[in-house]
Amino acid sequence: MDFKDLNAQATFTNKELEERRKYFEDLIKRRYFFNQGFEIYGGVAGLYDYGPPGCAIKNNLLKLWREHFILEEDMLEISSTCITPYPVFKASGHVDRFTDLMVKDVKNGAGHRADKLIEAFIEAKLSKKKLKPEEVKELEEIKQKVETFSAQQMHDVIQKLGIKSPDTGNELGFPEPFNLMFGTPIGPSGQLPGFLRPETAQGMFVNFNRLNEFNGGRIPFAAAQIGLGFRNEIAPRNGLYRVREFDMAEIEHFFDPKRPEHPKFKYVKDLKLPLLTAKSQEHGDGSVTQMTLEEAVKSGTVSNETHAYFIGRTFLFLVEAGVNQNNIRFRQHMSNEMAHYACDCWDAEIEFSHGFKECVGLANRSAFDLESHTKGSGVKLLAARRLPEPRKVTIIDITLDKKEIFKALKGDGNELTKLIEGYSDEQKAELMKKFETADSVEFDIKVKEVEKKVQLPKALISFKVSEQMQQEEKFVPYVIEPSFGVGRIFSAILEHSFRMRDEKRTFFHLPPKISPIKCSILPVISHEKYNDAIHKLKVGLTKVGVSSKVDDTGHAIGRRYARTDELGIPFGITIDNDTLVDDSVTLREILTTKQIRIPINDVFRVVSDLADGLITWDSVLAKYPLFKPNASEEN
Ligand code: AMP
Repeated sequence: MDFKDLNAQATFTNKELEERRKYFEDLIKRRYFFNQGFEIYGGVAGLYDYGPPGCAIKNNLLKLWREHFILEEDMLEISSTCITPYPVFKASGHVDRFTDLMVKDVKNGAGHRADKLIEAFIEAKLSKKKLKPEEVKELEEIKQKVETFSAQQMHDVIQKLGIKSPDTGNELGFPEPFNLMFGTPIGPSGQLPGFLRPETAQGMFVNFNRLNEFNGGRIPFAAAQIGLGFRNEIAPRNGLYRVREFDMAEIEHFFDPKRPEHPKFKYVKDLKLPLLTAKSQEHGDGSVTQMTLEEAVKSGTVSNETHAYFIGRTFLFLVEAGVNQNNIRFRQHMSNEMAHYACDCWDAEIEFSHGFKECVGLANRSAFDLESHTKGSGVKLLAARRLPEPRKVTIIDITLDKKEIFKALKGDGNELTKLIEGYSDEQKAELMKKFETADSVEFDIKVKEVEKKVQLPKALISFKVSEQMQQEEKFVPYVIEPSFGVGRIFSAILEHSFRMRDEKRTFFHLPPKISPIKCSILPVISHEKYNDAIHKLKVGLTKVGVSSKVDDTGHAIGRRYARTDELGIPFGITIDNDTLVDDSVTLREILTTKQIRIPINDVFRVVSDLADGLITWDSVLAKYPLFKPNASEEN
């Protein structure tokens, strides 16, 4: 895409988005884009189903994502399971740290997410009361930073502002961490504990060795996965924005930390993006800086070139998918809000009617995950880099007398052997040294969360030392992870593409690639004389890969246009009496509602090219005669 094209889009202010919200929500509901899950049973918060147009749009969005990332960047797509055994999330840190702070109503025990409660309280206070400027400043500062607060800080704010339980007015208890993972015992006896995955990422980390081998050991490479994530959110809200089960599209780009450059950075380096840095949030006025990605890397604002490359590619994807470029910004995490696995993290935030919200997380996860799973599983997850010159190295092979170790240490033996088998060359050398002067060595292990010390006698371990010429050295790759929340981007596209001709005629002006159906076929009136033409158009459009929807109901043509507009169908073909005479039809475009007259034989290719974005509607208008419908047909 040419960057110039990006400026052609409309921009909406937050207020405009908010004003249109009522009409927007009505259309979403009426034409069944999505609805709350289990509606007829009263619904469940945070669970949503997609209806036919919503489902088609989501599929098109994922198709575009696949093309933009997986195909264009030669990524390795996998599909791993949602049910995941306990040790994986223990090793990844999710069991201990994937938590939000929750405060409970001291009387009825109802839980509330502490930061969101404080945010909502402040928003209400700011909107209702006339406050002194210094009070406003203080409240806004708290609101901006509340997500990063510790339990004690949240408690202090709740006390200071006098925040009570929103439904009952009761006192609130001290904030406690609440783990967001859904636990699920695996197997009929339920003895193997597990979780529904809260992200697809771990499936790519645990399969790293297989992916690396599949790729011929060449690094960098990226794995990608589209699939469901599950989070038992304390406070699901804003429709699809914060839900408990959602589609994710994630990339794990594995690279050598000594070579953080990206060969294709040159294609995005001049992209000027609005960056909200950690510094501006922590020590400044929270303002956004427009900066090219090249400047961002050179000034150390973004952690490295590869990280910046994915920020640029993410921006281009969002814009191509139909998000307004002027309603996107990239916000850097402050040091105290960074996830446990990240060393630098940027969120692509999109402006909704409820404000700027995170839709894509772009984290530099360093070597955290591969190292954690090496420790957790005892299997080394390493890549290799060629050395500039071969070098002589000392190799230490350790042999453990497992039979005797298991006999002597019972269950602890398994943990101990796993620990030693995961040792790096340096750790092996250190261990060998210890055994040179001792008859047994003490190890710290962890069995079922309990830390223990165990002794390993010298007789049960042996070392073989050899020298080898080495062409390459092993290392733990670093990871850049762009993680896309599909439902959030879907919602943003719908909000930004929503248009109103008047209060009754509302519609979605979607990029044709994203539209649920590309073309409608409408006989001007319902009559069987048009059936052959309908059939010819349906077959011809299907042959060129254009999805279409026939509406030959008896409603007035204007009403039928309005109904196809509501679904965001960008093009409409109308069959009339002239079609029967000269094999021509009219072709209409959703936004301008202008129509041209065009031979049937041309229309298939023209609509297909329009739908693929290969030609513009303006170029079609210039080539074919304008058709003037009579007044009753216009809308
Ligand atoms: P995270 O791993 O928390 O950075 O999440 C990755 C992406 O998943 C976010 O950028 C969101 O777009 C999306 N996401 C996270 N939590 C939810 C949720 N509860 N509902 C919908 N989308 C979510």
